[in-house]
Amino acid sequence: MDGSVPSEDVTVPTPEQLTKVVALDGPAGSGKSTVARLVAGALGWRFVDTGASYRAITLAVMRSGADLEDQEAVATAARRARVELVTDPAAPQVFLDGTDVTREVRGEQVTALVSAVSAVPAVREVLIALQRRTMGLSGAVVEGRDIATVVAPRAAVKVYLDARPEVRARRRAGEVSELRAGKAAVTTDAVPARAAAETGAAQELEREVAQDLARRDSLDNQTNRLQASHGAVDLDTSDLSLDEVVAAVVALVREAGVR
Ligand code: C5P
Repeated sequence: MDGSVPSEDVTVPTPEQLTKVVALDGPAGSGKSTVARLVAGALGWRFVDTGASYRAITLAVMRSGADLEDQEAVATAARRARVELVTDPAAPQVFLDGTDVTREVRGEQVTALVSAVSAVPAVREVLIALQRRTMGLSGAVVEGRDIATVVAPRAAVKVYLDARPEVRARRRAGEVSELRAGKAAVTTDAVPARAAAETGAAQELEREVAQDLARRDSLDNQTNRLQASHGAVDLDTSDLSLDEVVAAVVALVREAGVR
């Protein structure tokens, strides 16, 4: 297992070379972060959280003071930022300009702006190269929106994870309340849903989160990031346990014969 931070002078693999890959795409709250980490751990492969790279660039853009309407200014801030992903599934991290921002990028400010920043084509160009370099050729489980369609279209296994909107909102609300309580949360999506809906405040939070998810889905869909990929297996995680989802994905990897 490789937990190192890839250096910038490692050559970027071509999409044709990126076959030893499990591509897990889907919306926030679908369960893909947790599933991807566990599958990577089971296979001894790298875990690549592409959402974390978009979040880190968003933080860089926020810090630069660039006007989000000004695509050139956003692109300049994105090109200047140095983002690194640590791919150890037991302890994934994201660094911005040499500083660990793993926790900060999951915050509400970054979450509110990340869809707009990641819609800028120059941002995607910079980050897709970073993601391919981070994946490498020795095996990677990669989670995002456009992995099977754009980043690694030759991936041996492609899965599209989804869940009903209320289940997604409950999972994401669980993470937000943990972040607010100051607990470490390194993944966005938790399966099964945490018991956040027990109090009135938690229900209010779930409503807010459901609105935010709908807003992000719609922004993400406008740029066609979340397209169905030819050959992807659809997996609805709403009524499945975490173990069942992980086992289903590992079985697909075995069937594909890429171990
Ligand atoms: O997965 P996560 O919620 O951390 O992703 C944050 C945002 O980053 C998404 O809402 C989307 O706007 C963007 N994203 C993307 N392409 C990816 C991964 C994430 O555009 N491959």
